[in-house]
Amino acid sequence: MIRESVRRFVEQEMPRRKAYEWDRDNHFPEDVFKKLSDMGMMAVTVPEEYGGSGRDIPAAMAVIEELARRSLAVAVPYIMTTCYAGMNLVECGSEAQKQALLPRVADGSLIFAYGWTEPDVGADLASVRTTAVKKGDRLVINGAKRFCSGAHMADYIYALVRTGPAEDRYRNLTIVLIPPTLPGVDIQYLDCMGMKGPATTDVSFTDVEVPLENVVGGEDGWNRGWDFVVGAGLDVEKLEVAALALGIAVAAVEDAWAYVQERRQFGKRILEYQSIRHKLADMQTSLKACRLFMSHAANLAQENKRCNVETSMAKLFICEEAKKIALECQTIFGAYGYEKQVGVERYVRDVLLMPIIGGSTDIQKNNIVNWLGLPRH
Ligand SMILES: Cc1cc2nc3c(=O)[nH]c(=O)nc-3n(C[C@H](O)[C@H](O)[C@H](O)COP(=O)(O)OP(=O)(O)OC[C@H]3O[C@@H](n4cnc5c(N)ncnc54)[C@H](O)[C@@H]3O)c2cc1C
Repeated sequence: MIRESVRRFVEQEMPRRKAYEWDRDNHFPEDVFKKLSDMGMMAVTVPEEYGGSGRDIPAAMAVIEELARRSLAVAVPYIMTTCYAGMNLVECGSEAQKQALLPRVADGSLIFAYGWTEPDVGADLASVRTTAVKKGDRLVINGAKRFCSGAHMADYIYALVRTGPAEDRYRNLTIVLIPPTLPGVDIQYLDCMGMKGPATTDVSFTDVEVPLENVVGGEDGWNRGWDFVVGAGLDVEKLEVAALALGIAVAAVEDAWAYVQERRQFGKRILEYQSIRHKLADMQTSLKACRLFMSHAANLAQENKRCNVETSMAKLFICEEAKKIALECQTIFGAYGYEKQVGVERYVRDVLLMPIIGGSTDIQKNNIVNWLGLPRH
């Protein structure tokens, strides 16, 4: 039911022409986002006692997929609210933070940006160098974050910072909520090839002060940042990226399916060529496998079952398959697949990001064999 109503919403509020413009102008359509929250779609990751409709991971993934089927300019901010803020606060927030912030997730008025990556820190997140030092009842933050998507439009940057000696690297990390409007926060736009809308940015912190209550998890959250990074939220985070990839792949196949029925060459529709028909058969098969993988992993996460291997496999498989699918669809469109207004060109730019973020393909492969117990030496 949720999938169907989001599909109708997309057709009504996110027409193709708009999706093209949001991508071209790197624009976040706040009005559309507001309408989506008015439908109650942000509430799906928030328990009822905090104003939500109950934590429903398969539903959240279905919404992400359906939005990404049309535009990342809405799908990614949706993740920033429901998952970056919602899922993380549910898993890691103190009771006071849950009571203050989760109702704002449910009504769509709270957006978090992820401040994890740094100029010298990508996959190796435990090496972050941005520091937070206690000064009375405040924290003083210094350092820099890179690729911090949507920092300029977020209420808080959900920042991973070092809060003790770097030697004990997994222990001395904390997550702090940093409002991007504070004095000492500087935001510069980065020009990336895709994922337009919530532009990605470089953020620097110079003696930025926040109250101690901005430590995620409250007092108990001090130096527990790594537990929060690798906790249950990480499983869902992998699925969020996979759901974006799946949405893009579905859009590419749907567009190619329609195009082969219109395009004529050598006196007949190109759907008559076996090479085209076989491509579409392969892509539909891949999509089916991606869907099954997504639903299996999302259901395990929903039931709070251990699913670190399954979510890594789903992220790896779906993102790599989606990339192949989008590129194959581009070949079906020929020259039109290279032209901006048609759509498939954007799918290709957007999908290329998915195996990079949320733990790259290489990192998922490392994790899968490690977690399945393959000895390292
Ligand atoms: C458009 C965009 C938006 C982003 N948004 C955000 C955001 O909002 N917040 C945020 O914190 N980050 C964000 N990122 C950053 C993203 O999460 C990182 O790019 C990602 O973590 C990988 O880091 P890296 O690119 O520095 O690669 P690196 O970690 O430097 O890796 C480089 C290469 O080496 C490989 N590699 C690294 N370590 C290993 C290993 N141990 N084994 C095998 N191979 C390895 C990688 O797979 C990759 O191919 C964004 C990036 C982009 C491009």
